[in-house]
Amino acid sequence: MSTNSGIQIPSRLPLLLTHEGVLLPGSTTRISVDSARNMQLVKSRLLKGTSLKSTIIGVIPNTKDPEHDSEELPSLHSIGTAGLAVQVVGSNWPKPHYTLLITGLCRFRVLQLLRERPFPVAVVEQLDRLEQYTEGEQLDGELGELSQRFYQAAVQLVGMLDMSVPVVAKLRRLLDSLPKETLPDVLASMIRTSNTEKLQVLDAINLEERFKKTLPMLTRQIEGLKLLQKTRKLRPDDDKRVLAIRKGGVFPGRQFSLEEDGEDEDGDDMAVLERKVKEAGMPEPALRVCLKELKRLKKMPQSMPEYALTRNYLELMVELPWSKSSTDCLDIRAARVLLDNDHYALEKLKRRVLEYLAVRQLKSALKGPILCFVGPPGVGKTSVGRSIARTLGREFHRIALGGVCDQSDIRGHRRTYVGSMPGRIINGLKTVGVNNPVFLLDEVDKLGKSLQGDPAAALLEVLDPEQNHSFTDHYLNVAFDLSQVLFIATANTTATIPPALLDRMEVLQVPGYTQEEKVEIAHRHLIPHQLEQHGLTPQQLQIPQDTTQEIISKYTREAGVRSLERKIGAICRAVAVKVAEGHKLSKIESSSQVQEGKGVDSEMAAPPEMPIVIDLVALKDILGPQVFEMEVSERLTLPGVAIGLAWTPLGGEIMFVEASRMEGEGQLTLTGQLGDVMKESAHLAITWLRSNAKTYQLTNIAGCADPLEGNDIHLHFPAGAVTKDGPSAGVTIVTCLASLFSGRLVRSDVAMTGEITLRGLVLPVGGIKDKVLAAHRAGLRRVILPKRNEKDLEEIPSHIRAELDFITAGSLDEVLNAAFDGGFPAASMTHPQIASKL
Ligand code: ADP
Repeated sequence: MSTNSGIQIPSRLPLLLTHEGVLLPGSTTRISVDSARNMQLVKSRLLKGTSLKSTIIGVIPNTKDPEHDSEELPSLHSIGTAGLAVQVVGSNWPKPHYTLLITGLCRFRVLQLLRERPFPVAVVEQLDRLEQYTEGEQLDGELGELSQRFYQAAVQLVGMLDMSVPVVAKLRRLLDSLPKETLPDVLASMIRTSNTEKLQVLDAINLEERFKKTLPMLTRQIEGLKLLQKTRKLRPDDDKRVLAIRKGGVFPGRQFSLEEDGEDEDGDDMAVLERKVKEAGMPEPALRVCLKELKRLKKMPQSMPEYALTRNYLELMVELPWSKSSTDCLDIRAARVLLDNDHYALEKLKRRVLEYLAVRQLKSALKGPILCFVGPPGVGKTSVGRSIARTLGREFHRIALGGVCDQSDIRGHRRTYVGSMPGRIINGLKTVGVNNPVFLLDEVDKLGKSLQGDPAAALLEVLDPEQNHSFTDHYLNVAFDLSQVLFIATANTTATIPPALLDRMEVLQVPGYTQEEKVEIAHRHLIPHQLEQHGLTPQQLQIPQDTTQEIISKYTREAGVRSLERKIGAICRAVAVKVAEGHKLSKIESSSQVQEGKGVDSEMAAPPEMPIVIDLVALKDILGPQVFEMEVSERLTLPGVAIGLAWTPLGGEIMFVEASRMEGEGQLTLTGQLGDVMKESAHLAITWLRSNAKTYQLTNIAGCADPLEGNDIHLHFPAGAVTKDGPSAGVTIVTCLASLFSGRLVRSDVAMTGEITLRGLVLPVGGIKDKVLAAHRAGLRRVILPKRNEKDLEEIPSHIRAELDFITAGSLDEVLNAAFDGGFPAASMTHPQIASKL
């Protein structure tokens, strides 16, 4: 890459005013930024920009006006240095500030100030040429002579220093490799010079003048050294006094300091880097690339922007675990115990995970499918993934894919601009430091797509056992072998996982928990865990089962246990405060014994009794009034309401369907965020009811045999924020309308699900377990299901089955009969035709 081969800096530059120090072209410095103007500049230009141009800023010395943070823009020095921000580091201590690592590129003159706020931006004229770096270019004539004299003085100065000090050796190399015209700037910023002198060098736009200005500074140093050598022998430290290359060198302890390379002090860092490259255990192609880059790096002056890029690249390459792996220590029996200890319930999932691990044990290079755990949030998908890593003795790393819509998030950015990075896979490997970790790809169903390419396609390559042994990240640009990584994916629903990706995975459904399972999980895992997190012990806090049940039914409504865990956390916090107060109070008490209780309220002084038991009253005190009241029966007091069961990615839900009618022209209105399928179900239901109106004695408001005649119908699905779709509400709509047209109430303890046909048949639907659990959670007693879903009832825990009354229906007759007390139509008026059908 030749970033600065004859490049032009942008004609408009944002200006950074530094009030101490002067940045000269060719030197790299750290600048600490804390004024409002400069902070704004960093935030909106450097932290947001992505192109190389947006990282070039104008640095103007503001030595005249130390009041740098005043509202008014100080009068600007007309000449500055365009600098490339190579690194931005933010910190909040001792006050918010950024530290920029900036490489000076060339001088510019401010032509016109375009704006002052929030940071100054100016039209500028570039003063120095920015050429690609070439070796040994000669200057002619007088200038050539001058530059030669300058070079010799510099060589003489360096020659007087101790060559065994790496910084000195490096400077010596630089003298030969740098183009002569850059020497004044580079040396002026390296040797001891005052700010005023540096400013003079900056202002010397003419090259000849610049040589003339800097030469005396060099000579002064040489003379100074000679004097020192005469009086006593130079000590090694003296080099550093001459060369301002110490941390905080030129202005110790102040804002402006020359960049120092940490390793310079104890060995030639290039040699160290080279050794690391050779020891990293890279495969041949990667090693070749690294050695080539290293060779280029050695020839490059540190001031080149590319230097930092190449160095970062090499440092990442040596850090990657090319051949470092942890040893698997899989023992299936131990794994079973560990999985059981970590997780209550989840039997099916645990069994499948053990099978998977057992196969892996028998056949070490398993090219099997990727496991994908699908279920509502908080059911333990991530935590099972973590346990798998533990049973295998492997490192664990979670990669969150929710909202990722740029393929370079997975595959990295090409190494063409400042700020390019490797993708999340390579980053993860760097973090864990071994090449066989367990990677949990979290939320694969939430991958996005955008103009920047499809991340799913990149993931396919990562997951494909045929391809992933040579996965090429754009940043690395050499292949990395991912075949030892164990990938596990999680998702809330399979519906939005790209089909090609789904094809690679074995889906394991993780349904929600029953109330009883939640109580067990809370007492075995969540409460002990939260106690530990809050520094409490069971001797200090106890939560009885009744209380847990109350939290589950009145304060949470979820398939998993995430908000249950949060509520328990809230209780722990409240108790922790009490316990801490108790500690404090007992301390006050003991010290107050000396002063005979002076100033201590006797009521406050009593520390709380241990353990603190959270009963229902204390619970209400801490968590406030109940969030979820059982409102079901209240809502079924009018004809035209029925309860359906819906499946959502967050678990099962009960869903109300409401209908009302008024005089009109037979129109049907539907509201409540519905998908197309739902609308079709509504039309089907109406048609079926109209065609069977006689049989069921359904009428319009006026009592006429066509329920739609002269009437408008409005169907509403409350909970408008949730989009509802899917055919499974068919039977609920029919029941709701049948109630409306007949004026009879639907039983208040019944929920139903099932798809309908025009002929009145009930077809099977999915998500039965989640739906039944939702009905149970809501306190309903009777569930109407399609006949062909009967087999799914086996999945439901027996105690829940025992508490519910299941009606399996093959036709709408059966549904209506079960949904209304006394059958439908009421037994007393059963039509002979129906009686024969039954
Ligand atoms: P998910 O990844 O499915 O959204 P998490 O794995 O983050 O859910 O689980 C949320 C919390 O619930 C974790 O603290 C986890 O340990 C706990 N948890 C979930 N299921 C169980 C279980 N069956 N046994 C013990 N703890 C569980």
